[in-house]
Amino acid sequence: DISPEAPYLRGLNAPQREAVLTTEGPVLVLAGAGTGKTAALTARLAHLVATRRAWPSEILAVTFTNKAAREMRHRIGRMLGDAVEGMPWLGTFHSIAAKMLRRHAELVGLQSNFTILDTDDQLRLLKQLIVAADIDEKRWPARQLAGLIDRWKNRGWVPADIDAAESEAYANGRGGELYQRYQDRLKAVNACDFGDLLLHMLVILKTHRDVLESYQQRFRYILVDEYQDTNSSQYLWLRLLAQTRKNICCVGDDDQSIYSWRGAEVANILRFERDFPGAAVIRLEQNYRSTGHILAAASGVIAQNGGRLGKTLWTEADSGEKVRVIGVWDGPEEARRVGDEIEAAQRRGTKLDDVAILVRAQFQTREFEDRFIAIGMPYRIVGGFRFYERAEIRDALAYLRVISQPADDLAFERIVNVPKRGLGDKAVQKIHQLARAEGISLMLAAARILDSDELTGAARKSLGRLVADIAAWRDRLSALPHAELARQMLDESGYTAMLQADRSAESAGRLENLTELARAMEEYETLPAFLEHVSLVMDNDADAQREQITIMTIHAAKGLEFDTVFLAGWEEGVFPSQRSLDEGGTASLEEERRLAYVAITRARRLCFIFHAANRRIYGQWTSSIPSRFVGELPGEHIESETTMTGGASLWRAQWSEQADPFADVGRGTGRGPGWQRAAVAGNLDRTTARVGESRVSAASFAAKPRGDISVGQRVFHSKFGYGAVAEIEGNKLEIDFEQAGRKRVLDSFVSVAT
Ligand code: ATP
Ligand code: MG
Repeated sequence: DISPEAPYLRGLNAPQREAVLTTEGPVLVLAGAGTGKTAALTARLAHLVATRRAWPSEILAVTFTNKAAREMRHRIGRMLGDAVEGMPWLGTFHSIAAKMLRRHAELVGLQSNFTILDTDDQLRLLKQLIVAADIDEKRWPARQLAGLIDRWKNRGWVPADIDAAESEAYANGRGGELYQRYQDRLKAVNACDFGDLLLHMLVILKTHRDVLESYQQRFRYILVDEYQDTNSSQYLWLRLLAQTRKNICCVGDDDQSIYSWRGAEVANILRFERDFPGAAVIRLEQNYRSTGHILAAASGVIAQNGGRLGKTLWTEADSGEKVRVIGVWDGPEEARRVGDEIEAAQRRGTKLDDVAILVRAQFQTREFEDRFIAIGMPYRIVGGFRFYERAEIRDALAYLRVISQPADDLAFERIVNVPKRGLGDKAVQKIHQLARAEGISLMLAAARILDSDELTGAARKSLGRLVADIAAWRDRLSALPHAELARQMLDESGYTAMLQADRSAESAGRLENLTELARAMEEYETLPAFLEHVSLVMDNDADAQREQITIMTIHAAKGLEFDTVFLAGWEEGVFPSQRSLDEGGTASLEEERRLAYVAITRARRLCFIFHAANRRIYGQWTSSIPSRFVGELPGEHIESETTMTGGASLWRAQWSEQADPFADVGRGTGRGPGWQRAAVAGNLDRTTARVGESRVSAASFAAKPRGDISVGQRVFHSKFGYGAVAEIEGNKLEIDFEQAGRKRVLDSFVSVAT
């Protein structure tokens, strides 16, 4: 029913066509990097729409990053012209699950305007629960519990699924209990974390047949890119949705599975063939991306891994230039050298947009940033949580969240005394106490507490000012563009002044970041829309008007390609990461090697690999030795060079072709604290969002009296002592205290004296 010359089929090879045209039933495309998996998946989506097999809204397409989703949308638009009516459900697992969950939130006890927590909020919340449960937080850090809960969620486990053995992993068997408390608390504050987006949907689909059936009916076709990196809960979710129609097409590459640290399971590839018997398995073998040398270099490295599904890769492209392996003295020299090479490439006509620097860990980017700022090389940092994770940005976002959604307790807590306004722990505790006693938000409690004498002096005054300011900003939100409001808010709250007064080296950069934040907001129509974006954003590459090179982690670069790629920091302890070395065993090392394979295969034409003899990590110099992956590059496909002289010759000899680079070089490198943590990178951005339309001003809530107090009642108040109730107005009491005289207090702060 479609001519083979449909525009989206043009140029596809035979197995790619098969992947596009086998529309009915389960299809698994297993193929190496650059073989056109994503291209085939995109054409498949176009084909389904063009042949009217489904309306766009009846197609679910999962990509690994938001950027990939945007790209796919763009390409489909081009393939089909304006013929696309409606939109496919196209996005990451998280963004699609968030969209669904907002429709069904009430089924898991949330409201549709629930907050998506970031890691910071999550940790703060866990800390509170740990303290409340009388567990020594030093011994059992919140971070550890967070990791554990994350793991459970990735497997699709709710608290009831946690057995004693699992529970044992935290605080002598209290893991499960804490998980339960955490979930309860999240519900109470109408929030969920990233793992919950899928987990809640999974629970809903399992327990509400009607909901499940409606989605099974709706999604005639399901498409999944980067399938090798799905975790269990994602897999279960897909399997449920695909169960009736079974039109599910997954494309992936076991050699590119790089997210097992986040729960991804390559075993899902094998599971697929079992759960969807008779699945068509299609292999693509022609690589269209890279030159011969690059492909061979990558293949040589990945060949060192065991337990691969195994595949053939070939290219018709020329061998091109060999992979350049360059040894330098230290990080700054690496940055200089990369800068020089980029300028040289630019002179030869390479566009900066076609150049990427890929790093193993986020901390590696700073030296490049410094250098590029110095030489005026435009760059962008993609894929990290860098921008939105910065403290000043998070503070500003917390303000915006409170404005958008006054019930956002976590946001309120973050800003209540930032900048410092004399609201110490005591005052904050009071607010907490009232909020708990009355079951209201902190913001509301803050407003109510002002109606009493519970707070006095400076604390009272500044809380009053804060509450009034927030109300005023909320009011202005309807009259003012939200970016403008953000600017005013930063000034009026004293936040800008705080940074201006700060004489530290970073403060100028912080102010710039805030300016950048307001600029970013301008691209969104409403404040909630912006906050939703922030919560889901995986890359902050605000569409650059001018050419820029891209700096990103290898994790974030998955699925992308560039003409020229610089791979930085190929040293033991950086790449492979120290963490993978410390863990020992082959599993984590093989994952690092897959990462190396992903890194090299991003390059179309030129690939540079750098390693430095010295590296400063968290302020400490360490001497380093080249990555074992450098030694695994097949000699005939690389060209090595070192800028080092003298004593470096022994070191240089270590990575000559076949030699084991570690034959006589000790492994031990001094390393600073926090070094392991540097390895955590990737493109899952856990920033914060608040979407809420409720525009209830805090002061407009009516307070409920508690009912067991009448005029004349003798009561006790922890600050003012004993007294007799003189007047009652809602939940406010006028009390004649025996020592303190007449005071106005809130009824939840007194107890009935007998
Ligand atoms: P990765 O594993 O890195 O995600 P992939 O298998 O998804 O790679 P694509 O990104 O789809 O590969 O394709 C790699 C490159 O090859 C792209 O530039 C794409 O346009 C091109 N390409 C794909 N199929 C063909 C084809 N049949 N003919 C020519 N070029 C192709
Ligand atoms: Mg791809």
